[in-house]
Amino acid sequence: MFDPLELAKKINQIVSLGEKRKYYRFRPAPYYGGIATADCVGCCLRCLFCWSWHIVTQPENIGRFYSPEEVAKTLISIARRKGFHQIRVSGNEPTLHRVHLLKLIDLIPREIQFILETNGILIGSDPSYAKELSQFSNLYVRVSLKGTSNSTFAELTRAEPEGFDLQLRALENLVREGIDCFPAVIADFSPPDEILKLRERLGKIRPDFYDFEKEELILYPFVRENLQKAGIRFIEPLQSI
Ligand code: SF4
Repeated sequence: MFDPLELAKKINQIVSLGEKRKYYRFRPAPYYGGIATADCVGCCLRCLFCWSWHIVTQPENIGRFYSPEEVAKTLISIARRKGFHQIRVSGNEPTLHRVHLLKLIDLIPREIQFILETNGILIGSDPSYAKELSQFSNLYVRVSLKGTSNSTFAELTRAEPEGFDLQLRALENLVREGIDCFPAVIADFSPPDEILKLRERLGKIRPDFYDFEKEELILYPFVRENLQKAGIRFIEPLQSI
């Protein structure tokens, strides 16, 4: 098991260069009704179900460095060309390079919504992160919870179980700062009673969080292999219908 905050520091040194951050792809994507997407490199977790596992596990070998200005220009150009009103950074964990992210969001015109998809670890570990994010009126934050308890979090991410508390604290910090946000949860590996307990915990942070978004698990062959190697049981999609 590892400390996700320590891993964040280590990976940040690999994927950051001054104000620049590593990215491996820019694309229009169909999600959220159409969104310009930049896929960054580097994450502080190692989720066994991660769809970008091959990027997460070799940040040294993938992508190239882009300044916030270059990323903003490319994303705005994709959005204008496609008629999109939303922009996001996805792929790995966007919050690792704080200065880069804050500058990037600042460069996005306020009529375009910036969707921050994050595991919340760094926002949960430092309340000043959410405070800085609160200056952007066009920001929406989707915090993706990796499991439904400290123990499923540790099992699925290989990180220390306290990381799950940081994920929940991220939501608390964001709500405190009045930032538009919502939790998404990987709940496929959890029994109903544990899911109910999480609903209750989330509902105490903000009542509508009780009805969190269920994040879809896609069983790519390498995901299936990762889970099987770790001895984690999952329901085959066809069997669950
Ligand atoms: S937090 Fe996201 S990017 Fe990072 S390992 Fe987990 S699923 Fe992959």
